[in-house]
Amino acid sequence: MIFNHMKKRIAILGSTGSIGTQSLEVIAQNPDAFEVEVLTANNNVDLLIQQVKKFQPNVVVIANKKKYGEVAEALKDEPVKVYAGKEALNQVVEMETIDLVLTAMVGYSGLIPTIRAVEAGKNIALANKETLVVAGEIITRLAKEKQVDILPVDSEHSAIFQCLMGEFTNPVEKVIITCSGGPFRGKTEKELENVTVENALNHPNWDMGAKITIDSATLMNKGFEVIEAHWLFGLPASKIDVVIHPQSVIHSIVQFEDGSMKAQMGLPDMRLPIQFALGFPYRMKNDFPRYNFMDYPSLDFEMPNTKIFRNLALSYEALKAGGNIPCVLNAANEVVVQAFLAKKIGFLQMPEIIEKTMEKVSFIAKPEVEDLIQTNSEARKMATSFTENSL
Ligand code: MG
Repeated sequence: MIFNHMKKRIAILGSTGSIGTQSLEVIAQNPDAFEVEVLTANNNVDLLIQQVKKFQPNVVVIANKKKYGEVAEALKDEPVKVYAGKEALNQVVEMETIDLVLTAMVGYSGLIPTIRAVEAGKNIALANKETLVVAGEIITRLAKEKQVDILPVDSEHSAIFQCLMGEFTNPVEKVIITCSGGPFRGKTEKELENVTVENALNHPNWDMGAKITIDSATLMNKGFEVIEAHWLFGLPASKIDVVIHPQSVIHSIVQFEDGSMKAQMGLPDMRLPIQFALGFPYRMKNDFPRYNFMDYPSLDFEMPNTKIFRNLALSYEALKAGGNIPCVLNAANEVVVQAFLAKKIGFLQMPEIIEKTMEKVSFIAKPEVEDLIQTNSEARKMATSFTENSL
């Protein structure tokens, strides 16, 4: 088909994580369309080595320098260049032979490699939403300047993007981001006081990494997605709604000025939005399971409770405040999620500490990258001290 004359050459940053491994499944189903050029991982040496042997990239980067020897030794008979360290990660995205960079690493660590890739004129399949939360203004400005596409991998944003296709300049009245509600939907504040890490990691619909699974349980993930939608689609906070939809079959909705609503539906399977971003603008055949109405005889909707799940309200506040405040939101969140996973703080302390950190870090209205690096470290220090001195 259309790709026969030229395969799309892909760099996957974070290939051993949940999105990374599912992207490789998509690529394995479409060997005529895609070629893996670069794989990178933080620590998971064994899986990275397996992936290199199977997908034969030209370059591989292990971010943790201590693991370089192990990777290089295991791959010494493979035709692949092995590099290590953060700077290698930043440089590799600039390679001439890359057509598309999939950013699937976790959290703030995706910021600099993403900026470098955009600066090098690479199209981005964006799975690392924290990057847009932290530096949405800078990244969207740069992308415009370099005329690169930022293609959403997040299922909700992929849905909105798909609903907007063919709409030319028709104004959007609002977008409605759907949210499964996570494992604690409907719980009272009292009940949330004592939920455990294990409870929080048990997500009803989506199989994801630990960080995003906790973010889903606190609704921070949804808050980040509101900020992400703001930057991807140029909409103010007032035009971005969230509705709880426990079945996760409608991935999001766009409402136009005539009141008409377009929704994008499908099974909760991340391979679908991943494939759409990698293959854009083409839809490719696959043998993934299909939706069956009989499995979902009814679709439900309810409003999120932002008094209990405060992270969603804090995200709207951060978006409205602008400047470096979304960066503070993200940094404090990364700290509290780690502290919660380490069982140092309880579930309800997470939003409390984030809010206190947002109040205390000094405001910068128009931050540049250097300011964001500074804000990130200031906010982390502050949030860490709040987690250590119990509230
Ligand atoms: Mg999502």
